[in-house]
Amino acid sequence: MNEETIFSKIIRQEIPTPLLYQDELVSAFRDINPRVSTHILIVPNKVIPTVNDVCEDDELILGRMIAVAKKLAKEEGIAKDGYRLIINCNEHGGQEVYHLHMHLVGGQPLGPMLSLKNSNA
Ligand code: AMP
Repeated sequence: MNEETIFSKIIRQEIPTPLLYQDELVSAFRDINPRVSTHILIVPNKVIPTVNDVCEDDELILGRMIAVAKKLAKEEGIAKDGYRLIINCNEHGGQEVYHLHMHLVGGQPLGPMLSLKNSNA
């Protein structure tokens, strides 16, 4: 049984987080703690805890998430300059909410993809 998180309540609008997009597969809303000027979360409506839990039947959902990211990036006016899509997985990935979600971040230069401290790379 996949446990619900706060994201399920947002998807069902049991808490009043404005939705930027919703269809039968995915929903999108602004991150409560934006790290950059545009920071949107795109989430499947059903609970998939992590990327590790994705199955073949979820491929339509995953494709929709990217299609919605593209649409919202255009609406936010960040498509031309560019943006980043991020999915964190489990502890090393820095995942905090165990309901799969894609971060759409942009609106300013984002710098290098990763800046690790104590990296051996
Ligand atoms: P992650 O570290 O990839 O699991 O990201 C979880 C994200 O969810 C963080 O950026 C949080 O700021 C964001 N978040 C947590 N609770 C809420 C909420 N109630 N509404 C919107 N964003 C949230």
